[in-house]
Amino acid sequence: MEPGDRVWNVPAAHVGLACCERAVVLVPRTEDPRVFLTTQPPAIALEARPERLGALSEHAAAADLAAGMLAVRPSPDEELRASAAELVALRARVVLAPRHAPDVARLALSGVMVELRDLWAWTLAVAGPLADALELYLSHPELEVPIEPFHGLARGMGRREGLSLRAIAREVVRRDWRLTEGGMVTISERHEQEGAFLGRLEDGDAAWRSSDVWRAAEGRERTHFLERTPCAVCEHWLACGGYGARDGTVADPTWCAAWMPLFARLRSAFALAVGVSSEAASADYPG
Ligand code: SF4
Repeated sequence: MEPGDRVWNVPAAHVGLACCERAVVLVPRTEDPRVFLTTQPPAIALEARPERLGALSEHAAAADLAAGMLAVRPSPDEELRASAAELVALRARVVLAPRHAPDVARLALSGVMVELRDLWAWTLAVAGPLADALELYLSHPELEVPIEPFHGLARGMGRREGLSLRAIAREVVRRDWRLTEGGMVTISERHEQEGAFLGRLEDGDAAWRSSDVWRAAEGRERTHFLERTPCAVCEHWLACGGYGARDGTVADPTWCAAWMPLFARLRSAFALAVGVSSEAASADYPG
């Protein structure tokens, strides 16, 4: 991915794919998305419902993807109707809602990459499953696959680059774009659910960027620091990025109470791991 390239999450049919529900394509900085998306560009990621697994196993678009780039997502209200063996065979990542909390450990320990999506729903359900999933990720000796968003947060800590929940949830203004089934342009799935649209696809870049939704999203980070909100002085800013500030600037106490202990636990585990590995390195290479 080159600087300035954009990541578009679009209905799969919009780029000529009938095998799944959504497709993610890279739109080069120099291209007009309205035109580029009609050229049926290759997908770098796909999202499908579990019922599609049989057909997906024979589909070239799915077979060409890197591990974890096929997301299998059951409805948040339904049981997961896919076996761990099927998901592992497709190197798929399973996207789970709070209803699927009892499946997290079983799937992850069977070698299925897991993503906890819609973090607000997870946070409001009950805090226990989030903490359980974090402990599984941090300390189960047999776990060999990532559990998101914790793995992404840990990677961000390792690179010291502040890979925040906002980036992991693909809500980065200017990088992440989403086209709805109805032809509306927005930033992310969460924005779509909130009815926050930039305009229609045919309106084009200049119109999208002059919309109120765009300006509010772009100014959001700056506003935290200009107004010295609690997020601006929060020790977990790099990991959270104010993701729990529902209206943009006011941190939600429910969110902070659930996530601050998780961020702290992850950070202390990371510090411990770094300390252990540097001790091991100095023993291996004395002097
Ligand atoms: S944990 Fe709460 S105060 Fe801290 S950055 Fe997140 S939303 Fe803001």
